[in-house]
Amino acid sequence: GLQGVESKRPLFVVQSPNVTYTDDEIRSKYRYRTTDVSRGDNGQYIAIPKEVAYDFKVDRKVGKVGMMLVGWGGNNGSTVTAGIIANRDGLTWATRTGEQAANYYGSVVMASTIKLGTDAKTGAEINVPFHDLLPMVHPNDLAIGGWDISSMNLADSMDRAAVLEPTLKSLVREEMAAMKPLPSIYYPDFIAANQEDRADNCIAGSKASMAHVEQIRKDIRDFRSANGLDRVIVQWTANTERYAEIVDGVNDTAANLMKAVGNGHSEVSPSTIFAIACILEGAPFINGSPQNTFVPGAIELAEQYGAFIGGDDFKSGQTKMKSALVDFLINAGIKLTSISSYNHLGNNDGKNLSSQKQFRSKEISKSNVVDDMVAANNILYKEGEHPDHCVVIKYMPAVGDNKRALDEYYAEIFMGGHQTISLFNVCEDSLLASPLIIDLVVIAEMMTRIQWRVAGEDANGAPSYKGFHSVLSILSYMLKAPLTPPGTPVVNALAKQRGALTNIFRACVGLEPESDMTLEHKLF
Ligand code: NAD
Repeated sequence: GLQGVESKRPLFVVQSPNVTYTDDEIRSKYRYRTTDVSRGDNGQYIAIPKEVAYDFKVDRKVGKVGMMLVGWGGNNGSTVTAGIIANRDGLTWATRTGEQAANYYGSVVMASTIKLGTDAKTGAEINVPFHDLLPMVHPNDLAIGGWDISSMNLADSMDRAAVLEPTLKSLVREEMAAMKPLPSIYYPDFIAANQEDRADNCIAGSKASMAHVEQIRKDIRDFRSANGLDRVIVQWTANTERYAEIVDGVNDTAANLMKAVGNGHSEVSPSTIFAIACILEGAPFINGSPQNTFVPGAIELAEQYGAFIGGDDFKSGQTKMKSALVDFLINAGIKLTSISSYNHLGNNDGKNLSSQKQFRSKEISKSNVVDDMVAANNILYKEGEHPDHCVVIKYMPAVGDNKRALDEYYAEIFMGGHQTISLFNVCEDSLLASPLIIDLVVIAEMMTRIQWRVAGEDANGAPSYKGFHSVLSILSYMLKAPLTPPGTPVVNALAKQRGALTNIFRACVGLEPESDMTLEHKLF
């Protein structure tokens, strides 16, 4: 039977011959409808509706889940930890403007809703929390741990981050003072030299080694057993590293990468060591920073082990706006011709990014985010034509975590006219990133409990169930430079990313993709 959280009665059930609930599973028979397009001899497109029948199977037992953060003592790590404790304990605290209660604003899983359908009597929309769509772990129930090259406990880290109100900090201080990051892997060449003075909590050795991989694997196993966990999800929210050079024979294949680790090759980064350890340990690993942690050899290794990986780079502020606004402009038939993006920030992330090689990683990740939307409109853009796009980031210590993002969007409108949109976006960076860290954990964990197969003629003829592809592109909504299975397209448009996420989860309970046709309000 079901234990604990998962025994809670679901908010809704789907009554359909295609959906079966047992104590342990939700099974759905789902017809996935797409369109195959080919080109006839006369150049005309021929569109042929296509249908594939899939069976989905969801394990209803959520179990106990742990989140381990690399860079736990950073701004994001300390902020998300304090935020989860405050929510779990239902804390409220005094602020300048009154009493503030803990919440999960900014988390798509915890603070957004999904249309279930229309009220059979009144025709009104019925919306349910995203979190209730499938049996998902509640962030309040996460065990939290992790690594940092800085030995500071989480209470002091929270002070160093200078993000949260002192009244809130005093309420969580005692619990956080007892939290101490595990020693981590530090290869000085990969992050900015200005980080060196905080690196006082490092595992011996300053180049790649199998001993490092084994130590991280052991840390994950120890955390799992100490907390009685069913699953551990690991996320990189440590400093942005420089890019690793892709070298033939070094990181191009799984076998070569493992050899390079053994040889202590200088192009194997700490984040790739963490990725390898997680893949071997079967712990989903998500990269929240922009560097190329997932070199081709790491992706191949994940595929070989059927382990989940996701990345890259949290999509929190400027880029999230960009992937919504550009989608709107181009789909409105407006020809965007340039995007100028400036940032300044004063936190440790900004300090690290003031170094050229680390900035370059961020510049790459911020630059390709409109490609798919541009390529989809061949009325506005000729083959290969692109809006101008430039990204600037400056370190301005005084503004701390309060990142400023200034964007100018310049577009061509009807008959040679122009439209200029100027955005000035000011946010505490870590308060934007923390809910994304939570969403990534909750969704990645959910994906470990979903299986699929192509429906067979009968029970005996059907192939066996398996998991989704190792590269979890379903996480794209939360990420600036979404990693996708090799050879598959990247989707950056925010609404499409949300649609993929919500509609795949809907399919698992036998619900049709969200449709905005509302014929029930138009045909009567
Ligand atoms: P931060 O500098 O405050 O925290 C990073 C932490 O990582 C530090 O405590 C540092 O000591 C630690 N660290 C560095 N190398 C390590 C290693 N090898 N192993 C373990 N710990 C290590 O930065 P932050 O503001 O928390 O951001 C973290 C990362 O997330 C950055 O790379 C940033 O670019 C990325 N990011 C942040 C946002 C956001 O909105 N805050 C958005 C997108 C991406």
